[in-house]
Amino acid sequence: MEGTAAKPVFYLLTLLCLSVMAWQLYRRAVHWLKGKPIGWKPDPWGSVIRYVLGQKKVQGSRPQSGAPMHLAIFYGFLSLFLATTLLAIATYAPVVGLRNFHEGTYYLVYETTFDLLGLLFVLGVAWALGRRSLHDVQVSRGIAHRVITSDWRDYATLGILLMLGLTGYGLEAARIANQPQTWDTVSVVGFWLAGFMPPVSDSAYVVTWWFHYAWFFAFVVFLPQMRIRHSLIAIVSAAGSPERPLGHLERVTVEEVEATERVGVALAEHYSRWHLLSLDACMSCGRCTEVCPAHGAGKVLNPKQVVADIAGANRSGALVAETVSEEALWACTTCNACVEACPVLIRHVDLIVDVRRNLVAEGRFSGTGATMLRQLGSTGHAWGVQGGREDWMQGLGVPLCREGAQFEYLFWVGCAGATDPAAVRTTKAVARLLQKAGVSFACLGNEEACTGDPARRAGDEFLFQGQAEANASVFERYGVRKVVTACPHCLNTLLNEYGEFGATLEVEHHTQLLARLVQEGALAPAQGAIGGTTFHDPCYLARVNGVSDPPRAIFGEATSMDGSDAALLRAMAAEPGARSPFLEPEHRGRKTLCCGAGGARMWMEEEPNQRPADRRVDELLATTAQEIAVACPFCRIMLDASLKQKAGDEIRLVDLAEKLEEANT
Ligand code: SF4
Ligand code: SF4
Repeated sequence: MEGTAAKPVFYLLTLLCLSVMAWQLYRRAVHWLKGKPIGWKPDPWGSVIRYVLGQKKVQGSRPQSGAPMHLAIFYGFLSLFLATTLLAIATYAPVVGLRNFHEGTYYLVYETTFDLLGLLFVLGVAWALGRRSLHDVQVSRGIAHRVITSDWRDYATLGILLMLGLTGYGLEAARIANQPQTWDTVSVVGFWLAGFMPPVSDSAYVVTWWFHYAWFFAFVVFLPQMRIRHSLIAIVSAAGSPERPLGHLERVTVEEVEATERVGVALAEHYSRWHLLSLDACMSCGRCTEVCPAHGAGKVLNPKQVVADIAGANRSGALVAETVSEEALWACTTCNACVEACPVLIRHVDLIVDVRRNLVAEGRFSGTGATMLRQLGSTGHAWGVQGGREDWMQGLGVPLCREGAQFEYLFWVGCAGATDPAAVRTTKAVARLLQKAGVSFACLGNEEACTGDPARRAGDEFLFQGQAEANASVFERYGVRKVVTACPHCLNTLLNEYGEFGATLEVEHHTQLLARLVQEGALAPAQGAIGGTTFHDPCYLARVNGVSDPPRAIFGEATSMDGSDAALLRAMAAEPGARSPFLEPEHRGRKTLCCGAGGARMWMEEEPNQRPADRRVDELLATTAQEIAVACPFCRIMLDASLKQKAGDEIRLVDLAEKLEEANT
């Protein structure tokens, strides 16, 4: 394009298109800035490297979710962006007195590398286009349920991207046909295409050049209107994301309530700026909805729709609870499957619990869930049991803190563990195993009170804070540092949320401590049932706190179950004897399927035909196992009800501690 008027026109058009794009993004940013300032210190570089460049979330997705296609498009696009940037730097280097380095061996390597990497982009986009079209055809013929939503803009986006890639190669081929050079063979694809072209005149080359850049201008101008805007917004969203554990909810302070005269979120602008920005990063991929147990059980909750509705409420100024619907908000089990699955780091659970907080404060929470909150407030026990936290200890000789016992571990029993008959069996088994292995432990007995987990997740933030402060002062009185518990919900709250209340604790699940005792030879390993045992990973253990190996290691086998088959296969390759002791269900490890108890759902009314536990039990029974092992008292209660309906007493439901005790008596 040297020596023509095209250059200034090109620069002018580029500036114009970038300005149009910036203006549209600014219009969106106005809505993000309505939110409150963020209350955390982000790790921008670390997050961008992990989640944008490393595509950590997409890499961990199931291939069926389109992850390989997305990775091809992303890394292909990234390489084209890098190639263009290097070319621009080399071209303008002489302006600041530097040498144009686009020559010699570097140039040959550059050409071959980026020419081939560009194929990734073109193939990825073609794959996306084919996948979307095929899905739409299948849905229209009634042979598939809609998983991918589409409108004309999605096809337009993919069309523009495909044309951008194809015309890029066409331009390269035209340049080779126009001005052949001896080194052109290094541009593998371009050289191959040029072989099909007749000689290209200078004017034909100019037309090809403008044709390619017309697609580039279209891409820049329309980007903020299309789903692909996530490619920009997700970078900013990742840079500002909170580096807190999945199981941690942000604290509401009394000062904040006094200043705003409100608890939680009524209007979208009450969220943080980051939460509002993250809504715009949503690409409507539907991964969150695909994994949502409430949606899967037929409830109205649809996390993808929740995100879209809150974004809409932010633009319109409508109340969030009315836009999303209270029914949907109360259906969430806070299982975090959606948060785990979301490639752009949207924290659906924060969004939902913040509105619940407002509903509870406004007195708009009723039924059995509200009864639980009243019971918890008056008795310190989620089922309203007065005292009775020491009944299970009778005859076991369990040491109590108040009696001056010296201990390494506080055995935190939990409301269910102390009083629910089935959970009490687990509690007793844990206590006897700890005694047998010579572990120094003690219990709080009637000085223990609910951690406040169900209150916090139901939205009663200050009831939770009261429980946390009271329990933290008891921990301080007895110098508690290490805690072991058989309840993943207690584990999560004590580990991830009590730090803000002065209790910095090392908290372990019973399967973690017991697996270590097996490993050290203090206990014999558990044995699977004849006919096979399957295992239900609890959400708050495997996904929220990343503990999925220890429940398997109790059987004395080396395993690696971070939720992906790939991890298990890697572990098996590294250690040929390694395998899971269970007949594994489809959803396991971090990708486990919720039983429906979390988020205080355990205490809320449930339509008999919409129980998440029914779906989970079906999946567990499909393994053909004769026994279902659990590691959470809440899961046990939920699965037990469904299992009785489906299989009567034929299939045994048992906690891993009981399994281990059987092998040690
Ligand atoms: S936390 Fe679980 S139940 Fe709630 S929206 Fe997400 S996937 Fe659905
Ligand atoms: S919230 Fe995340 S997972 Fe859900 S549709 Fe949007 S981008 Fe996909």
